[in-house]
Amino acid sequence: MDRILKVFFITLLLTVCNGSFMQAVSSGSGTNPLTRPVSDKPSPQMPTFTFVYDNNPYREGLETAWGFSCIVKGTDKTVLFDTGGDGKVLLANMEKLGIAPREIDAVVISHIHGDHAGGLNSLLRENRRIVTFLPGSFPDSFRGDVEKQGAKAVSVHGPVKICDDVYSTGKLGTKPREQSLVIRTAKGLIIVTGCAHPGIVGVVRMVRERFGGEVLLVLGGLHLTGSGKGEIEAVITALKKLEVRHVAPCHCTGDTARMLFKQAFREGFIDSGVGTVIDTESLR
Ligand SMILES: [Zn+2]
Ligand SMILES: [Zn+2]
Repeated sequence: MDRILKVFFITLLLTVCNGSFMQAVSSGSGTNPLTRPVSDKPSPQMPTFTFVYDNNPYREGLETAWGFSCIVKGTDKTVLFDTGGDGKVLLANMEKLGIAPREIDAVVISHIHGDHAGGLNSLLRENRRIVTFLPGSFPDSFRGDVEKQGAKAVSVHGPVKICDDVYSTGKLGTKPREQSLVIRTAKGLIIVTGCAHPGIVGVVRMVRERFGGEVLLVLGGLHLTGSGKGEIEAVITALKKLEVRHVAPCHCTGDTARMLFKQAFREGFIDSGVGTVIDTESLR
């Protein structure tokens, strides 16, 4: 009888959770809740990433400014990761790239720094239906500003499912706490970082342990501006050891690190700046 009741409640729970856009995932002990059984494969469609805001130039006609923002398409929901520092630049670049604010379902803000969170309010003014995922460490006033616009703010603590195959790592590190985006694909995991303040090697290690599988691509700011050659090379060695296949470092990675990554990853290096589009279908 107990067993029948258990099965009943598990079935009920699965029915309630199924299809929910924002499903918090327990981070308790025991079986890794984010590692799916082998039979439950990720969607075969591969996502594309468009860098809508970056301080590195890439495509002519777009404005460069200090900060980072990148849009993920081809997943269950269209997700904007970070919003750059200036809403005007963000919206102007999006328009030039043919991306309308109404296309965006969710925004994930990596951390509190203005060069990542600064464009959010301008974007929400254009589309208040966007669900905003903020690290739980954000002040109430920040969340209040989002809600004042009529948008929904979700506080992220542990790892959270944003939509099918798209997750937040949960807030990592300290001062500032930062979340990264994880996308599970048929070719491996993709990790998007804002500034990687908690340290990119630690983030990749955590994602591998927690989500399982190989890492197809790491993209975003790697926070190595001002780091010495030895420190950068140690990061490269560690990422190679973690079997990261492709890297698209931008924003706060710094020119020296970008050059060293290019030399080390060769065809696995993707030159990135504002306007770069990565179609992961072409990655091996
Ligand atoms: Zn930054
Ligand atoms: Zn930062």
